[in-house]
Parts: sequence; structure tokens; C-alpha cells
Amino acid sequence: MKKSIILLFWWMIIFAGNNVFSFQNLAPAPINFQMPWIYNPISWFYEQRTKEEIEKEMISKMDFYSDDSFQKFLDDKHPLSWNYEANDIVKINSDFTSNKSSNFMLRKKVAEMFEWMARAFSNEFWFKAKLTINSARRSQKLQRQLISNCSVWRCAKPWTSEHEAWLALDLWVNGWNIKAWDWKYYQRLVDNAHNYGFHNSYQKWMAVDGKIVEPRHWRYVWVELATYLHDHNQTFAEYFYENIESKI
Ligand SMILES: [Zn+2]
Repeated sequence: MKKSIILLFWWMIIFAGNNVFSFQNLAPAPINFQMPWIYNPISWFYEQRTKEEIEKEMISKMDFYSDDSFQKFLDDKHPLSWNYEANDIVKINSDFTSNKSSNFMLRKKVAEMFEWMARAFSNEFWFKAKLTINSARRSQKLQRQLISNCSVWRCAKPWTSEHEAWLALDLWVNGWNIKAWDWKYYQRLVDNAHNYGFHNSYQKWMAVDGKIVEPRHWRYVWVELATYLHDHNQTFAEYFYENIESKI
């Protein structure tokens, strides 16, 4: 009798553990207790381990160095190859470009995800706010022209811009650049853009991101990574140098 009670007890523990193991996405589990390790130490233990495992798995799926990777990290030390051209380029629907231009181009996945995001954004504001792209892909030639009268804190050198990788967008709302103090629109993007894989690259000034703060500049990194950065309040540069490569 005693044995079966002990077995039942262990079975309950294992069952509780299995339930926690089924948690497979990156969103942090809602923690309703202030001290979960006291209320449910086993579930708390598995939760900690699972998060680490999830992060390891996420890192194993990403590639920060290949030119055509959605996570290609770009700064002065990590430029694109001089002859890089993405091979999955599409024109962006002119409904989502400033001045209805049909000349903006992005990688197919980035354009698709942006369209989803722009439609959802517009819906959320009852069609009274329109998110449009004011700058997408830039050529090395254009990047060279830009840098000639722009500081290195503001403009990336040729071959180091996220725009050259066909991954970045400068965004307008209703015909105006997005500003950090524009809480209504900027904050809505900060809260939701990760669901579409977008990340605001420059949020923490030069020492961290290598560039001045730029609320209008968003790049595609993949939904899982964008969600991780959002949940941990990290910029891509911060994450890259803390988790992937040492700065020295
Ligand atoms: Zn930009």
C-alpha cells in the first residue's frame, strides 16, 4: 500500500514535469506567484532548464555571418561581401510605400512580413494610420553618396548597411518619420513588430549599437529572434556581442 502511494506521488511529479516540457515557444511563461520555486519547485526547475534549452536551440538555427542569412550581423567589422546580391528580391506593393513608389525592393520574406504588419497596424488604428516604407534597399553606390555628407554615427559605411542586405526599412506613419516620442505609433511597433520578425536596430546609442537612435529603422531578423530581443529588451548588436561574439 505504502509503495503504491509513493509510486503515485512520483507519477504526479513526472506528469507535472512533462506538462512543463511541452512549453516550446520563446514567450516567457506567465508567473503568477512571486516565489514560484516555493509553490512549485519542480515546475520552476524544469522551466529554467527549458528556457536555456530553447535559447540554445534558437542559436543553433541562426546564422549571423552568411550574407544571405536573415540574421546576418552588420557593422564595420562584419561587412557584406563586395559582390553580394540577394536572389529572392521582390518589389513591394505600392500601397505600402511612401508616395506610392513602386521602386522599393526587399527580400521576398521581408516584403511579405512587412505587408502583414502594415495591414495589422492600419487595422489597429481603424484605418486612420498608414505605415509606409520610405527607404528599403540601397545600393553600395547610394550608400557611398550618403556617407559622403553624413557622420559614421548616422550612416553606415558601404557594405555594412542593413539596407544593402535588403533586410531593412525606414518607416513613415501618415507621411512622417516615426519618432521615439511618438508613443502612439512607435510604441505600437515596439509592442508588436517582433510578431512579424522586425526589430528596431538602433535604440541604445553609439556605445551599444554603433549608431545614433533611429526609431524609423526596422530590420527583419526572424520572428523567434525578434521575439527574444523584445522579451529581453536587447538590441541586436547587444545580443550579438554578448551571446555570439566577444567585442575584443
Ligand atoms: Zn534605415
